[in-house]
Amino acid sequence: MTKKKGFALTMVVLLLMVAALAGCSGGSSSSDGSKELTFMFRGGTDEQKAYKDVIKKFEEEHPGVKVKMVVTAADQYATKLRAAITGNNLPDIFYYAPGDLKAYVNSGVLKDLTPYIEKSKDINLDNIWKYGVDLYRYDGKMAGQGNIYGMPKDLGPFALGYNKTMFEKAGVPLPDKDKPYTWEEFIKVNQELTKDTNGDGKPDQYGTGFNVQWALQAFVWSNGADWLDESKTKVTIDDPKFAEALQFFADMQNKYKITPGIEQSQTLDTYQRWMKGEMAFFPVGPWDMSTFEKLPFEYDLLPFPTGSTGKPATWIGSLGIGVSSKTKYPDEAVELVNYLTTSKEGMKQLVDAKVQIPNLLDMADEWVKDTKTKPNNKQEFIDIVKDYGRALPGNYTYNAEWYDIFFTDIQPVLDGKITAADYVKQEQPKMQKLLDKAVEQEKKSQK
Ligand code: CA
Repeated sequence: MTKKKGFALTMVVLLLMVAALAGCSGGSSSSDGSKELTFMFRGGTDEQKAYKDVIKKFEEEHPGVKVKMVVTAADQYATKLRAAITGNNLPDIFYYAPGDLKAYVNSGVLKDLTPYIEKSKDINLDNIWKYGVDLYRYDGKMAGQGNIYGMPKDLGPFALGYNKTMFEKAGVPLPDKDKPYTWEEFIKVNQELTKDTNGDGKPDQYGTGFNVQWALQAFVWSNGADWLDESKTKVTIDDPKFAEALQFFADMQNKYKITPGIEQSQTLDTYQRWMKGEMAFFPVGPWDMSTFEKLPFEYDLLPFPTGSTGKPATWIGSLGIGVSSKTKYPDEAVELVNYLTTSKEGMKQLVDAKVQIPNLLDMADEWVKDTKTKPNNKQEFIDIVKDYGRALPGNYTYNAEWYDIFFTDIQPVLDGKITAADYVKQEQPKMQKLLDKAVEQEKKSQK
């Protein structure tokens, strides 16, 4: 394709996206004179339904305000949001990733919610996870402090789940949630549960099968290593403790054979195997609860196994709900954000739909004690939020290109074609170059 054609095509695609989004221009008055807010979001089927119900209740409680919902597929959300920003066509209220906070504030996309939150009688910031609110604070230099440019839609602690029924059937002692497995113990129990149950010579039940992009963090951090140094300007994957964790991760498949091999992964992916009850361990996020309630076996949560630090680790995801700086109805827009993120009424509906943990501390206490809903050890989600969960490394930097490339290039390590030690050595300079670029971009955007 020639450059010119490529450009023309890009323009057409952009125009199409802008046209598709024309319906969500911010804050229009509808024909009956009510104030109309547009809310752009994403989520699975259960989540969409939950949000529709909450919005309906909000409209009932706020006569004269109408909310138009624009829902997009998860993998298209970022593109659509970017197109709306480029096309100067932002919805009044929208989800955004905490990693985009600095860029969106510096370019004037997000409204500062601080004065609205301070004057509201309904919001008690002390009753919301501090970690969650801090994710959307920015003082112009550092994220994590300063004014508030969004509220956490939720926090997504990434826990480890296990198939309790499979353990009981195999006569293997159940995991102890208060005493996480060491890596050695984890391999041993996985080997006990990787089985050929129908005698055809091939396993049809596996220990585990992690997606590297979402599970490697637990192993790296628990081994005392990280992607970034404290200043968030140096890529530190060439630390031997990092390589050790990555090698262990790859060895689960190549050396210990406790995960489906490449061939088996092609017939059925690990999520499907877990869902069918053919896998002992699998990660579980709060967003899985509504689906996992119907699993054909009992499951529960435990911490990820521990590396050399002896402490478990994992990440906490989040999405913020922000308000466009150009909204015509800032009071109503912030009111809706608060209804979705901090009100008892709104939060209760979302939690009952089993798509998230409560944002409110006092509600979380009750929720943990509720044994009628799965999983039983909901406390693990709360422990991750309170004690040992972290933000993903890409959240700290102006963009995440340096971080993403680590996973784009990683397949040969997972396939056992190169060692983790060689990989981190060759990949570090590449990532550092991209991180340097992000640091430069950030400096420019502050001017
Ligand atoms: Ca078999």
